Amino acid sequence: MNHFEARNGDLYCEDVALEEIARRVGTPVYVYSTATLERHYLAVADAVSGEPALNGALIAFAVKANSNLAVLATLARCGAGADTVSEGEIRRALAAGIPADRVIFSGVGKSEAEITFAISRGVRQINVESAPELHLISRVAQALGRRPDIAIRVNPDIGAGGHAKITTGARESKFGVSLREAARLYAEAAADPNLRMRGLACHIGSQITNLTPLGAAYHRLADLTRDLRAGGLCVDRLDLGGGLGAPYFNSPDPPEPAELVKLAAAAVAGLDVEVAFEPGRVIAANAGVLLATTLHVNARPDGRRFMVLDAGMNDLMRPALYDSFHDIRPLAPRSGRAVSYDVVGPVCETTDTFARARTLPPLQAGDRVAFMTAGAYGAVMASEYNSRPLAPEVLVRGSEWAVIRPRPSHDDLLARDRLPPWMAKAGSG
Ligand SMILES: *Cc1c(COP(=O)(O)O)cnc(C)c1O
Repeated sequence: MNHFEARNGDLYCEDVALEEIARRVGTPVYVYSTATLERHYLAVADAVSGEPALNGALIAFAVKANSNLAVLATLARCGAGADTVSEGEIRRALAAGIPADRVIFSGVGKSEAEITFAISRGVRQINVESAPELHLISRVAQALGRRPDIAIRVNPDIGAGGHAKITTGARESKFGVSLREAARLYAEAAADPNLRMRGLACHIGSQITNLTPLGAAYHRLADLTRDLRAGGLCVDRLDLGGGLGAPYFNSPDPPEPAELVKLAAAAVAGLDVEVAFEPGRVIAANAGVLLATTLHVNARPDGRRFMVLDAGMNDLMRPALYDSFHDIRPLAPRSGRAVSYDVVGPVCETTDTFARARTLPPLQAGDRVAFMTAGAYGAVMASEYNSRPLAPEVLVRGSEWAVIRPRPSHDDLLARDRLPPWMAKAGSG
């Protein structure tokens, strides 16, 4: 459920016509719905509070899905924590008002500087992905005279997810350590006076629409917890990751967060552990759209029709990166017979194609469309390829809206580059 719907034919976000935002801010532009963000967060939070076995689990929003400060602050006010994968994301979470003790630091390649930053700021927990990383954290912790809380990210050898490129839990993926290696590493680290071993973590993939692999992964973590405890080790936290899918219209409807939460509660029942979830996509995806304007409709003699938009793969990379499907809706559909379009962007790459042979209401140059379900892994992946300024972002709340990241000017883009001294002399060249 989201708060983007047609009223008298015009597409709205909450009580604001998307056409108004497109006209005032220009396109391409990302638009997010406060009510949808809150609703999705509360769907998870309410399910968690209904399961005593989860001990009031921490819901750590995966910042990489949408890291705009206003989006994070919206979730922070609902009580969210943050799952972060870089110093930049930790800084964003803290700046948005998420307390450090609700920030988890994950990621497969943390630098010494990032680890130093995370420990100094007192993040809740560092999820460790390998033995060398564990040793580095120990050295940094010793130098700082701090004793950080650590979880080991286990790769449960269960892959899942909507596409091979977003599967992280299979044995051959770069993420985490095997169950056996995790047991060895945990015991080793538990004897390290610089570290406080707290538990285990897993995250097996993204856009998961079948709960079976997630349930299996949770049970493997619970089994390993019992094994470690039987060996006299303390395990009091389980971080169950994210991964639940969002409805993209072409894929099977994902299960409700409550079903996932119930499954997690069953897996950890009796363990008396602190639980964390790291949902990203399921909270943000449906809470955002990308608006674009049709530049041309180009009919080829062979019957193909290209709809060329002013948004490109640099603005919304998922179709080019993962063959992802985004529903495309005109902001004010014209009547007439539906037409099959190849929907493309202006970037000089063949892969700058959002959809092939997509049937849509007839569209003309100047008409606007919305890419639905673009609130997660949308703006965060954008680049300035082809020297295209990053699309701005707008947050709607009821009948109010505000630009939460302005579009940079072309001068802003140019001003970031420098000529080397041998070219910079006035009059030279
Ligand atoms: C990406 C990621 C998440 C969030 O995944 P979603 O599919 O967006 O829910 C959670 N935890 C970790 C460690 C991640 O890398």
